[in-house]
Amino acid sequence: MRMIALGSVAVLLAAAPGGRTPGPAASYLFGGRIIAADSGSLDGVHVIATDERGTYEALIDSSGTFVGAFPTQPSSRVTLRVFSDSATPRYHTSVVSLGSGGPGEAARIVLLPRRWRIRGGPFDGRDVPIDPTRATTRFGDGPGYWRLSRHSARGVSWVADSFPIRVAFRHAPVDPFISPNDSVRFWDLAMSFERLLGRKLFRPASFEEVDAGADGIFVAVNKRMAAAGKTYITYDATGRIYEALLTVSQNAYLGESRVAMHELLHAIGFGHTGGWPSIMGPNAAGVELPTAEDVAYAQLFYAITRIQRDRDAPFGIAESAR
Ligand SMILES: [Zn+2]
Repeated sequence: MRMIALGSVAVLLAAAPGGRTPGPAASYLFGGRIIAADSGSLDGVHVIATDERGTYEALIDSSGTFVGAFPTQPSSRVTLRVFSDSATPRYHTSVVSLGSGGPGEAARIVLLPRRWRIRGGPFDGRDVPIDPTRATTRFGDGPGYWRLSRHSARGVSWVADSFPIRVAFRHAPVDPFISPNDSVRFWDLAMSFERLLGRKLFRPASFEEVDAGADGIFVAVNKRMAAAGKTYITYDATGRIYEALLTVSQNAYLGESRVAMHELLHAIGFGHTGGWPSIMGPNAAGVELPTAEDVAYAQLFYAITRIQRDRDAPFGIAESAR
């Protein structure tokens, strides 16, 4: 492949959305940006584009910008494969199918690490192996631990601006009274949950503030409910959560970690999993708290979805889970 300056080619790519370069050495460019979810080094990472006729390797610089060229207009759908040539690769291979409209649009891809080192909390420094397939495998008739928006395949999560997330108690007239003591027990537990997850997550808010439309979580007690707890989240097409309703069937569950921490994980976006020992698992009996795996997958997911939003990088989760 001829040597080309990445910067100038990236500019050219942006200026020629069809991917066609002018001049005698006309070729069809593809390119974009690789962003590591753990901000780690991209040494040894390769990007290869494939169409019906062949495979073409891109040049990639240390910032993750890559660019390559097809010798002629691609004859079919283009697939990008991002992988590491190391014997102990740092990242999961990502396979991105580009639309049949051609490869001209820059592809921004979040690379998922094979291990996540937990940051903060009692598990700080613990290295947890990451398997995106397990994290996204559906559980029963629900989503997996990592939930993806159906429209955009982006991770479903609260956006950075929503943190700390407002939490307000909600009483319907028929619901039992939530006493100051219930509230204290719930907030103690919510703060232990934050310590486990290694970050500040929640702040108390009034019912009126969240009811008026501010992002937030409602907490309610509903004695008519058969399950110990149930949580609904509401999110938009980009995967942004803007409301959660966390319900328990008895006041006592507000201070019981097995129930309330499970529901708090739902409230910040996570589903059930059979993929690892988990407070969100089918055999959660005896699991009273989020496990190191629960925390690692949660921290990584929030790192990924933040990059997806801030850098407009739609690819990453589904593309690594194959
Ligand atoms: Zn549940």
